[in-house]
Amino acid sequence: MTIAIVGAGMAGLSAAETLSAQGRTVRLFDKGRGAGGRMATRRASVNGSNVTFDHGAQYFTARSEGFRAAVSRWLSAGVAASWDDEDASGKPSERFVGAPGMNSILKSMAAPLDVSWGAEVSTLEGGPGRWSLRFADGSAAGNFERVIVAVPAEQAAVLLAAASPELATNAKKIKSEPCWAAMLAYDEPTRIVSLSFEPLDGPLGWTARNSSKFGRTDAETWVLHARPDWSAANLEAAAEKVAARLVESFREQTGAGAPVFSQAHRWRYARVAEPLGTPFQLDPRTGLATCGDWHLGARVEAAWTSGHLLGSELARQ
Ligand SMILES: Cc1cc2nc3c(=O)[nH]c(=O)nc-3n(C[C@H](O)[C@H](O)[C@H](O)COP(=O)(O)OP(=O)(O)OC[C@H]3O[C@@H](n4cnc5c(N)ncnc54)[C@H](O)[C@@H]3O)c2cc1C
Repeated sequence: MTIAIVGAGMAGLSAAETLSAQGRTVRLFDKGRGAGGRMATRRASVNGSNVTFDHGAQYFTARSEGFRAAVSRWLSAGVAASWDDEDASGKPSERFVGAPGMNSILKSMAAPLDVSWGAEVSTLEGGPGRWSLRFADGSAAGNFERVIVAVPAEQAAVLLAAASPELATNAKKIKSEPCWAAMLAYDEPTRIVSLSFEPLDGPLGWTARNSSKFGRTDAETWVLHARPDWSAANLEAAAEKVAARLVESFREQTGAGAPVFSQAHRWRYARVAEPLGTPFQLDPRTGLATCGDWHLGARVEAAWTSGHLLGSELARQ
């Protein structure tokens, strides 16, 4: 029995890892060109040098025993590192990042698995026990006894509308907040002291010295995230205008000079506002299932946990 997984972000890969470890055959399909999802890493050329930006998830924490064990494995494999920073009370914080980029963890999870990149699933066809996936280019893959949909709630609702109205109904209840991100590079060090801070006013909700993370390039780089309300109000604005506005606000807040590179990226479904509250959905009638951060909360750990618990449940059946 082969299980198809639509979406090879943290949740889909976590489900796949768990199922594979139990001897199940799994195939993953992701519309992206490579591993990342919302833990993506963007490359850019700045003054002839390559720089990278974590423009989605910034760092993650590990609370549960299971996720802490996974993080330990990633640290030992060299695909994750601590992000040396202090919390507000001056204690070392337990923030982790992918190394040398946030997507390194997903790359290492995907490596031993059967993943098709650039495979955008547009419909689920067939029926219980004989599902096939129809892709945006018209091609298809099948026969799958089960399909796990591991994409943001809004996208899951569309994919599942006809195949499993029950699962789609819950996905439709979820609302994700957008986030405009800006990536900045400097050819000279700024005089900003902190590694990250949350501006008190203006469009920005979070700023991080991207280059302070382990293994990043020498050039000083920053990632700025706009607040959800500002991002929603400017959702359809041109990326160049958004980048200019966020840079301006950053300069007002910090006194930093002009960056030599700036680019904006829109995350339409960045963070779930209120999660479903159950770790996954499984429709026994159809053999379809969902996992992803929108079940438990807008965090890397929640995505991993959702996928892991769904994988464990399916491996038992
Ligand atoms: C701006 C931003 C900042 C964040 N900051 C943090 C943070 O600091 N700490 C933290 O813990 N979390 C943070 N998060 C949240 C964290 O990134 C997510 O919770 C987590 O990565 C979600 O994983 P996922 O697998 O559920 O979804 P995703 O990462 O979205 O993976 C879904 C995958 O499905 C694919 N896909 C979608 N539709 C289709 C389709 N039709 N066919 C095929 N493939 C498809 C996508 O390409 C994607 O790879 C942040 C997120 C954003 C966007």
